[in-house]
Amino acid sequence: MPHIIDGKEIAAQIKEEVKYKTAQLKAQGRNVCLAVIQVGADPASTVYVRNKKKACEYVGIDSLSFELSESTSQEELLSLVARLNTDDKVSGILVQLPLPSHIDEDSVIQAISPDKDVDGFHPANAGKLCIGEKGIVPCTPAGIIELLKRSGISVDGKECVVVGRSNIVGKPMALLLLRENGTVTVAHSHTRNLREITRKADILIAALGKPQFITADYVKEGAVVIDVGIHRDNENRLCGDVLYEAVKDKASAITPVPGGVGPMTIAMLMSNCVAAVKR
Ligand code: NDP
Repeated sequence: MPHIIDGKEIAAQIKEEVKYKTAQLKAQGRNVCLAVIQVGADPASTVYVRNKKKACEYVGIDSLSFELSESTSQEELLSLVARLNTDDKVSGILVQLPLPSHIDEDSVIQAISPDKDVDGFHPANAGKLCIGEKGIVPCTPAGIIELLKRSGISVDGKECVVVGRSNIVGKPMALLLLRENGTVTVAHSHTRNLREITRKADILIAALGKPQFITADYVKEGAVVIDVGIHRDNENRLCGDVLYEAVKDKASAITPVPGGVGPMTIAMLMSNCVAAVKR
């Protein structure tokens, strides 16, 4: 039987730790306040934003909400970000992505002060991750490292394969695994013989955004399989990038969807909010 990595349980532990640290910071008179900006009313974004604000409330982080209309201009958004950058009451800034197509996401990400960039997407934080300096790390890959550590799975010396090279998941994931002394391969849509590569993995991270793509023949017997994908299947049930029922019998440990990586992303966002204050 594989070890089913319980992301809900581990995320709950992290939120309790954040709650304690937030109370300590507040007792020292420090502001712990996340400004959340949403542009437009995309239903998925609205759910994510609501969950992030609920998590803030749970751990004692204050939150400020900016719900801007779809027609907000890039200049208006940049001027709000500039104001929040210099507001001492605000310790973290989160701009919910995706933004409407008339706004350039990179310009907005780059406008956020790196010290308040709780998503860890600013090039300064990405650069720090690359050269091994301490910075703010994107929440999903940071959460996966916590899942592995808290499940007693060592990365040191292991063959790690990351399928996906996005700036928010695949690339930072690869760098974090490297930091943990894994031997890391990054696969993407141009990779040839993907199956041969993934079958070498002791730790396989599926972050390609293709429902149930990773079947049992992509997986080595005894591998640790981490599923980042979130989709709805034909029956409208949540599923990941991994065909869970088939792969779980081959894996030594696996994350389910839901209840694996997903809850960790918000827990690590809370953790990044505290880290931002400490910086
Ligand atoms: P992107 O679409 O930005 O990136 C997908 C990556 O997968 C790309 O690098 C792409 O390659 C690669 N890819 C696509 N198809 C294949 C293929 N057939 N073989 C190999 N590589 C392939 O997605 P994200 O990184 O943003 O997200 C990945 C998944 O994780 C999505 O399902 C998303 O919903 C989910 N997600 C879940 C989170 C959570 O909290 N659980 C948080 C963030 C994302 P190329 O670069 O060549 O195009």
